[in-house]
Amino acid sequence: MFDQVDAYHRPRSIREAVRLLHAGGSRARILAGGTDVIVQSDPSIRSLVDITQLGLSYIRKAGNAWAIGATTTMAELEDSAPIRGLAGGILAMAAAACGPVQLRNMATLGGNLANASPAADTAAPLLALDASVVLAGASRRRRVPLAEFFSAPGKTVLGKELLVEILVPAPPRGGRWGWSFLKLGRTESDISLVSVAAGLQLDARGTCKSARIALGAVAPVPLRAAGAEAILMGQKPTLARIAQACERVARDVSPVTDVRAPAEYRREMAGVLAGRALRDCAQQAGVTL
Ligand SMILES: Cc1cc2nc3c(=O)[nH]c(=O)nc-3n(C[C@H](O)[C@H](O)[C@H](O)COP(=O)(O)OP(=O)(O)OC[C@H]3O[C@@H](n4cnc5c(N)ncnc54)[C@H](O)[C@@H]3O)c2cc1C
Repeated sequence: MFDQVDAYHRPRSIREAVRLLHAGGSRARILAGGTDVIVQSDPSIRSLVDITQLGLSYIRKAGNAWAIGATTTMAELEDSAPIRGLAGGILAMAAAACGPVQLRNMATLGGNLANASPAADTAAPLLALDASVVLAGASRRRRVPLAEFFSAPGKTVLGKELLVEILVPAPPRGGRWGWSFLKLGRTESDISLVSVAAGLQLDARGTCKSARIALGAVAPVPLRAAGAEAILMGQKPTLARIAQACERVARDVSPVTDVRAPAEYRREMAGVLAGRALRDCAQQAGVTL
């Protein structure tokens, strides 16, 4: 493992980390918790840039949003009172579902997103929450909506940049919200076959002011189910309407067959899980189904 690595850097500033990334060219790799980097053991890597000493482990309020530092671990997220209180705790639940506890003590939120697995468990809740990521390059910082961050399995829009922060806006006030996160895996600590995060905001008449459905592991990148959301918007979330939205979810996903499950099973379960999540949201928002 890593026989070819000849330099291990532990920079003390973001600027230095980015400089080391540039200096190492295509053979340099950022190392956060290492739970993906070590398992992948890419033999082309020559230098590792450890970013765990950059002061990027924090959860703090930033105006109307929560700012989460990239090296915040899954364990820190699942234990955080503000994250447990945000949107029914869907991000905390997803963090708690990321593998066994030993892993969650190491694995970081930034690493989960930058690794760009279609099955990354924190992606669906963050997409449902309209999160964005802050990327730091040599000369500037840019903010990218998470919906535009993933480009293909294992690929993102990151250049020679560091993902430094995840910004999660507080959901709009008013009406009644319900939220849900569900994960289907072969075992409790395996990665997802399907994950779903959903949120419904109902107005005083019980119609959907906001409908958010995001899925993981059922397409080349984690995605929002925009077609299904449109079916719910402005409507009462009845069982029939939810069923219609779930049929649309199952139609719109494009899963692959792999060692864990066939594509058709994932497609069907995407609809099933979306249905459970939406019914859960509707009931939390006061609807009797
Ligand atoms: C046994 C096991 C079980 C797992 N179970 C799950 C699971 O249930 N759900 C799940 O979602 N994942 C799971 N994973 C995958 C992994 O643990 C997560 O993706 C984890 O969050 C990765 O974070 P890390 O800090 O360890 O990333 P690292 O391994 O350090 O890095 C991952 C990738 O992202 C890059 N990177 C890291 N941080 C940054 C940054 N700030 N800016 C730019 N690039 C960066 C690295 O260069 C690397 O390419 C599992 C892994 C193992 C080994």
